[in-house]
Amino acid sequence: MTPITYELIKTCKQTGARLGRVHTPHGSFDTPTFMPVGTLATVKTMSPEELQEMNANIILSNTYHLWLRPGEDIVREAGGLHKFMNWDGAILTDSGGFQVFSLSDMREIKEEGVHFRNHLSGEKLFLSPERAMEIQNALGSDIMMAFDECPPYPATYDYMKSSVERTSRWAERCLEAHQRKDVQGLFGIIQGGEYEDLRKMSAQDLVSLDLPGYAIGGLSVGEPKDVMNRVLDFTTPLMPSNKPRYLMGVGSPDSLIDGAMRGIDMFDCVLPTRIARNGTCMTSNGRLVVRNAKYARDFGPIDENCDCHVCKNYSRAYIRHLIKCNETFGFRLTTYHNLYFLLKLMEQVRTAIAEDRLGDFKEEFFEQYGLNKPDAKNF
Ligand SMILES: [Zn+2]
Repeated sequence: MTPITYELIKTCKQTGARLGRVHTPHGSFDTPTFMPVGTLATVKTMSPEELQEMNANIILSNTYHLWLRPGEDIVREAGGLHKFMNWDGAILTDSGGFQVFSLSDMREIKEEGVHFRNHLSGEKLFLSPERAMEIQNALGSDIMMAFDECPPYPATYDYMKSSVERTSRWAERCLEAHQRKDVQGLFGIIQGGEYEDLRKMSAQDLVSLDLPGYAIGGLSVGEPKDVMNRVLDFTTPLMPSNKPRYLMGVGSPDSLIDGAMRGIDMFDCVLPTRIARNGTCMTSNGRLVVRNAKYARDFGPIDENCDCHVCKNYSRAYIRHLIKCNETFGFRLTTYHNLYFLLKLMEQVRTAIAEDRLGDFKEEFFEQYGLNKPDAKNF
């Protein structure tokens, strides 16, 4: 009996996008959905109460970072990550693989796992499928991710092939090492870069393990947008239709819509929270850099079409002032708005699927966001 189940509610007749619901031991959430990222057991500057208020039902946290600080023993002693951070909704943890490959240099990939150095202290560390499962079992997330190799983009075919084969062997070891199958679901990660036959091989290997959900990894790593869409076009049909499909590391509004249209149910990205701390906002009319001088005397809201409490109560001029002065409250306001904006966008996507008009919605949204202009910024 798996603790994670997927219920397909409806398929959009215009696009094939899926409207569904994922059930977890910590509640259910409607899909397609966006998961705010809480790297160190906090979505930077947001309280769990605020996340609830904006209807976030699932957040993501990072195994690698929590392993280093405060260490999984402390989280286990606290009663698990939900209790530790006072978040009662669902939590997904990544495996640490991405950080090992992106943050640390001097890494050595071996069959048993990866030897590397702590990006903070330089200390030698080792992460393996078994260790990644042990840490995630201690954290107690509802959805755990298999430990995979994240090859760089671009990678040669031969490198990618041996990497995919290793990721499949590691996924088997993860399943074997997973100690709490009744309360935590393990998702596999389909790799293979832009090579269709390797994505197919990866999907077949992982689907044979009958895991409760599957992710697509190795995208949003610097490849052009049309490459990502092409990979999604041939990869999502390889994924079981009765299980959730998660596209890792994607959070720009256009990619969320493009992904949903290709049958993706779950997304996560640091983009909305990271750019918020630089004073950049996502709005219905495209991106807005609120720290720019032209907003110094602009007493209107960040986005006149947004009904979040930030847009109802605070002006561009005030938020600009706070951010220019490095005031924490300024970062809180832009972060709240950006997350609200993306969660609201996913709600609009779900409504459009329910009404069989996601294709029309995409056209309208892209036009208003400025994505149809030749010099459009990618978010
Ligand atoms: Zn707003």
